[in-house]
Amino acid sequence: MSDRYQALRVKVASLSRERNQKALPKGSHQALRQTQRLIEEQTRILPRDDRGPLACRAGCNFCCHLRVLCTAPEVFAVIDWMRAQASAEDFKQFRQRVAATAETLHGLDPDKVLRTNLACPNLVDGHCSVYAARPLSCRAYHSLSREACETSFNAPENLDLGHPQLTALAKVHEGGLAGLIGALDQAGLDSRQYELVTAMDEALRDPAARTRFENGERAFSTPLTDIQSSGSRAF
Ligand code: SF4
Repeated sequence: MSDRYQALRVKVASLSRERNQKALPKGSHQALRQTQRLIEEQTRILPRDDRGPLACRAGCNFCCHLRVLCTAPEVFAVIDWMRAQASAEDFKQFRQRVAATAETLHGLDPDKVLRTNLACPNLVDGHCSVYAARPLSCRAYHSLSREACETSFNAPENLDLGHPQLTALAKVHEGGLAGLIGALDQAGLDSRQYELVTAMDEALRDPAARTRFENGERAFSTPLTDIQSSGSRAF
């Protein structure tokens, strides 16, 4: 990686950590919002060639069939957003979709967890139904080639298939997330990254997950095998 990209990541991580340390005493949702804003701000000031053009378009959702990694505050943010925005009936359906997808994931052989296309339960009619509250990894995911994403989607067994990305854009997101994780760590809060669907399911079933997080304990169990070292099919 060139020095320029490394320097960009370090700069954003440092800014993110500093701002998150100030925001965390007001609550993890404030810190998360702060991280989102920083990433948006740092993306806007990238040179035009570092920002696009991207192949991503509304309605293209190959990536929403992969596994998503996120911190506990991001899991709570999705649920809080749904509680605030959705009707009682829509929230019930959301819970049912999450529970059904989590059950499917739990039932997969460990080595199939990454090798299976499984629609995110937040994907409704081809679009993200929690777009405003989607996790940082979903915001970071981008591609320069729709064909590469489709090829990977059609060959879920192959963990080596990737897709071309913009390095600068990826580094801004990496830095933002690293700063959030660093600040959570420093505050003595759970900074682990969890698989989105199973963590949402646990948060919906067990309100104590939030209390555990606030008490500096592990928010969620880790029901899936180690998906952190995941190759191209978890992000
Ligand atoms: S949260 Fe939204 S953007 Fe992220 S994988 Fe699910 S549907 Fe896609």
